[in-house]
Amino acid sequence: MAKYIFVTGGVVSSLGKGITASSTGLLLKSRGFRVSLQKFDPYINVDPGTMNPYQHGEVFVTQDGAETDLDLGHYERFIDENLTRDNNHTTGQIYESIINKERKGLFLGGTVQVVPHITNEIKQRITKLASKQSLDVVICEIGGTVGDIEAQPFLEAIRQLRLDLGSQNVLYVHVTLVPYVPTSGEFKTKPTQHSVKELRAAGIQPDIIIARATKRLPLEARNKISLFCSVETEAVIDAPDVKSIYKVPLIFHEQELDRLIAAKLGLPTNPIDLSAWKDFVEREHSRTETVKIALVGKYTGLKDAYKSVLEALEHASIQEGVKLDVVWLESSELDDKTLEKLTEVDGILVPGGFGIRGIEGKISVAQYARDKKVPYLGLCVGLQVAVIEYSRHVCNLEDANSTEFDKDTPHSVIDLMPEQKNVYRKGGTMRLGSYPCVLKPGSKAQSYYGKEVVFERHRHRYEVNPTYVEELQASGMEVSGVSPDGLLVEIVELPDHPFFIATQFHPEFLSRPLKAHPLFAAFIKEAHEYVLRTQIANSSMHKI
Ligand code: GLN
Repeated sequence: MAKYIFVTGGVVSSLGKGITASSTGLLLKSRGFRVSLQKFDPYINVDPGTMNPYQHGEVFVTQDGAETDLDLGHYERFIDENLTRDNNHTTGQIYESIINKERKGLFLGGTVQVVPHITNEIKQRITKLASKQSLDVVICEIGGTVGDIEAQPFLEAIRQLRLDLGSQNVLYVHVTLVPYVPTSGEFKTKPTQHSVKELRAAGIQPDIIIARATKRLPLEARNKISLFCSVETEAVIDAPDVKSIYKVPLIFHEQELDRLIAAKLGLPTNPIDLSAWKDFVEREHSRTETVKIALVGKYTGLKDAYKSVLEALEHASIQEGVKLDVVWLESSELDDKTLEKLTEVDGILVPGGFGIRGIEGKISVAQYARDKKVPYLGLCVGLQVAVIEYSRHVCNLEDANSTEFDKDTPHSVIDLMPEQKNVYRKGGTMRLGSYPCVLKPGSKAQSYYGKEVVFERHRHRYEVNPTYVEELQASGMEVSGVSPDGLLVEIVELPDHPFFIATQFHPEFLSRPLKAHPLFAAFIKEAHEYVLRTQIANSSMHKI
């Protein structure tokens, strides 16, 4: 039977519950347990697929095509497992399924209520994961903060589960904030005490408290939390701010969090092997040279909107041994002055995006990268703008465009596939999830992957219009990856350019700390070589 760890949060949001859950997952996996992570989001949207990146950050796509919370990205990156739609649930989905059952008459005339119907649905979704995948431990994160109205049914469900499954099988971990007040030079434990009080009001006594603070907590503060919150001092784990999230598991391990969990849940204390992770963190901190990568998007500086892309760049940079400096460029405000900034970068990345805003800016950037031979990696819309640019300026197809941006374009080089043309419903209706891509022998893409067929995750509606493929190829743009039936373009590249690769899929979702994605790795390697080439060119200019 599986063991369950429930992670809740208190005091404020954005404390890093997701990183806490992921780090715990990594530690338990490194002790040899089969672990999975699950997130419950208390909002009423069915999934985050239709939500604004300003509100919700990126939409993480699982291999089975679910549009999920960005925490699932952290989970996958830390525990190095592919998750599915069973790993993320929302209030919207839970109500949707209960209402559908009610409409089918499955409640036989009974009154449908939050307790027990909604709570039973939540409990069933929590336990289903372990039984489907025969797991040892399920770590289940409850989104939001205790005290939120929306979170109540979830807290009630996890409270009941300790009763249903037995106290030896269920553990509650509460993540709270311990603010530091500089004027008195003290860490304040009162907000944590109040948060635990709130949790207790829902019938839950935490077993472990993760105390988020700017610095390491003095023993005195941990003792105080222990006394007032009724948790042993050794179970008050301190989680100071760190430069890199990848250090968090090591900090937890130092405080023996994994041993403590194993003891509390009666799990065998298998030996732990964190050597590969430690090496990775060491490499992360021993980089000297820097590569500058321009990230050209609509949500400048909004790290959460490009979470997986930034992580994938970071993994590749660590593998290459260089520091990463991301230069944010707002694609809707690209003028000559901002384009100037491109002269300072060693690589350009155009990530995915929807809607017309900023598109012409992205097209100019793709043109710049092609002309000036700056390494270019285009992802999804980043491929579409590269194709539009090439069609306009190399194939001379005037006003070529995507029908997403110009319905009446004379050359719809990017267009909807017939099966997408009559889709009006929003949410889950794009081409989503993992699809095979056949690589062209001898292409750069194929050499980077070192494989013939790869599986990559998608999230888009539009495709390269098959009518124009021959023309693009005849003018020198190589299609180096296609769907197995040969109809859909998956990767394009420019053979006469040091690195110009664009993908219709989102490779960023598959990058893992210890396994940088081959295309990101090659991109950063080329950007690094670009730095070296420019240095040599500059020094020989000086000599002249
Ligand atoms: N807007 C484009 C499409 O739907 C690209 C989407 C993306 O970049 N994820 O096809």
